[in-house]
Amino acid sequence: MERRAAIEIRDLRKSFAGQEVLKGVSLKAHPGDVVAVIGGSGSGKSTMLRCINMLETPTSGEISIKGESYTMRPSKDGGLEPADRKQVQRIRAHLGMVFQNFNLWPHRTVLQNVIEAPVHVLRVPRAEATARAEALLERVGLIEKRDTYPGYLSGGQQQRAAIARVLAVEPHAMLFDEPTSALDPELVGEVLSVIRDLATEKRTMIIVTHEMAFARDVASHVIYLRDGIIEEQGNPEQIFGTPQSPHLKQFISSVK
Ligand code: ADP
Ligand code: MG
Repeated sequence: MERRAAIEIRDLRKSFAGQEVLKGVSLKAHPGDVVAVIGGSGSGKSTMLRCINMLETPTSGEISIKGESYTMRPSKDGGLEPADRKQVQRIRAHLGMVFQNFNLWPHRTVLQNVIEAPVHVLRVPRAEATARAEALLERVGLIEKRDTYPGYLSGGQQQRAAIARVLAVEPHAMLFDEPTSALDPELVGEVLSVIRDLATEKRTMIIVTHEMAFARDVASHVIYLRDGIIEEQGNPEQIFGTPQSPHLKQFISSVK
């Protein structure tokens, strides 16, 4: 029997104001896969990631999470929209997304950020959520900052808090959108090492990144997106060792 994909995208298209930015993207991530997505600015990487949790709605195509497809219906703008808001909430509750700019709630402490979704969305009792959050903060090296507000943390600390917040919902899959690109260079390593550690746990992850050495190291599969199309994909040795497309060759040498 075919293994059920953790995330499957079939022929995803997305247009903004008539401009097609995803032109038929298909991909499958099986449980435990770490998929790195690379590509130049504007190639559609964020849009693809945002469609997976319906932060953007596809113009056409199908997306399924753990074998369950989003139920879609035609929207007024000629694209699609989710037909079942409850389904989106349910699927999204266990899809953790880590953004470039951390997106922590500024008026909540680190601990409050981490327990927010477990307590208010997943209805975990507060004491239990707190105990688990503390263990996660321990893990990402932030336990001493549990009562600190995000504004008093470095970018690297904020991003590690954001990762703990995602882990707190026991995600089926984690989506990272350039998690280190807003960081000062000296803070990149501490965040990558937390993600690297998660990758060894056989978690399903899709990571958009410009850190090529990191992608080569942690990814089981690499996708090169160019102009809304997967121009090349393969294992890290193929993509970084023997790239075929001239654009990919050029891209790799430009970001190294
Ligand atoms: P990447 O993450 O690879 O840099 P994006 O997915 O952010 O690329 O963007 C792909 C293209 O879609 C870009 O040309 C961008 O300007 C456009 N785009 C993204 N989001 C929107 C939006 N909400 N409205 C209009 N255009 C958008
Ligand atoms: Mg982007």
